[in-house]
Amino acid sequence: MTNIDGWRSLPAAQQPDWPDTLDAALDRLSSALPLVTPGECELLKQRLAEVSQGRAFLLQGGDCAETFADTTTESVQGKFRTLLQMALVMTFGASIPVIKMGRMAGQFAKPRSSSTETQDGVTLPAYRGDAVNGFGFTEAERAPDPERLIRMHAAAAATVNMLRAESLGGGADLRQAHSWNRDFVASSPVGVRYEALADRIDHSLDFMDACGVDPAALHTTEFFVSHEGLLLDYEDALVRRAPDTGNLYATSAHLLWIGERTRQLDGAHVEFFSRLANPVAVKLGPNVEPDEMLRLMDRLDPDREPGRLTFVARMGVGLVSDRLPVLVEKAAAEGAVASWVCDPMHGNTFQAPSGIKTRSFDDIAEEVTRFFEVHRSIGTHPGGIHLEFTGDNVTECIGGGSDLGFEDLRRSYTSTCDPRLNRTQSLDLAFQVAELMAA
Ligand code: PEP
Ligand code: MN
Repeated sequence: MTNIDGWRSLPAAQQPDWPDTLDAALDRLSSALPLVTPGECELLKQRLAEVSQGRAFLLQGGDCAETFADTTTESVQGKFRTLLQMALVMTFGASIPVIKMGRMAGQFAKPRSSSTETQDGVTLPAYRGDAVNGFGFTEAERAPDPERLIRMHAAAAATVNMLRAESLGGGADLRQAHSWNRDFVASSPVGVRYEALADRIDHSLDFMDACGVDPAALHTTEFFVSHEGLLLDYEDALVRRAPDTGNLYATSAHLLWIGERTRQLDGAHVEFFSRLANPVAVKLGPNVEPDEMLRLMDRLDPDREPGRLTFVARMGVGLVSDRLPVLVEKAAAEGAVASWVCDPMHGNTFQAPSGIKTRSFDDIAEEVTRFFEVHRSIGTHPGGIHLEFTGDNVTECIGGGSDLGFEDLRRSYTSTCDPRLNRTQSLDLAFQVAELMAA
């Protein structure tokens, strides 16, 4: 059975080699409760329409790959709080709303550059995320198991539930978030740089207090969830029709994006996404041709609906100034209403001398700076940033905050996929972006 027609007859990149038990799992998911509603997806579309018109900024982030083991209070709360802290300084810097969106509650599946992995002469299927198989290097762990799709839905539901509780039940208090930022400024080696900005936020909050201004917006927040819509069987099983409009919505997340490896114009992902009413995003790497981008726009946003389409540019620090301008200019010339968001992570991955995957904080910050420069020179809006980060004190990226070096990487590297910014590095970046926005 299928909820969306058309895509099943097209080539779908990066799909696991599922066993026959897949159908039974999909049957169960087809009657599972949705994680988000069409009304929420439409609200996000309105918010992203503001981004596309230069009146809001998107802050999207979370793990490269969520895991079932890390679906814990500490992990979810840590990411939520860090994102909130980042959004607070960025809102202050930009004086426009910052839309908060987790790479959370569904980011359990990964595209891989190779479908196998070899260790000590043994070759097994590559790890494709907890939604598909296990990280452990054994035949049993690495076998794709459809039961994991059910677990993914449950883990995502629990995560989204916690995020809603945090957003509305007192976990999103701006005074609280600001006091955590004060702790960062006081305790991190780079904090002193940001003292003046933190002081100004203090004064603004005091001023509002003194005036008796205490709107709900200071205690609660909107929070949206997103992930790469990679596993089309899973996404299809969770598609539901809105009774009032008849439109089809992916109900696994408010926003889904198509990754750099699955955005083929004649492929199943683009076809599948073209039928959804959700806001959608597409990653664009340095080798995308301007015409390819325009055709993606025609396929995914033929009506030029504000808020529908977001382009996430992941060019790398060395290429962004060269490759991004022509894309932004051509899109604008074609009447694009797409938003532009910068992913400064995926074009800046390299191997440390030990062979471990890492990224440099300075490269990441510099790509964001150049992204802003490109948009400012063209007169378009730098619409947001897309990050891989965690609230935990991991050591996966070098530089930033506490100035981690290559030798620190082995200390606390817990990502099962790409290296993330830790909490200090994330806040360091947020203060830098706030300065860029205020400039
Ligand atoms: C990712 O976001 O983790 C990812 C795989 O990105 P990209 O599709 O841009 O390579
Ligand atoms: Mn990644």
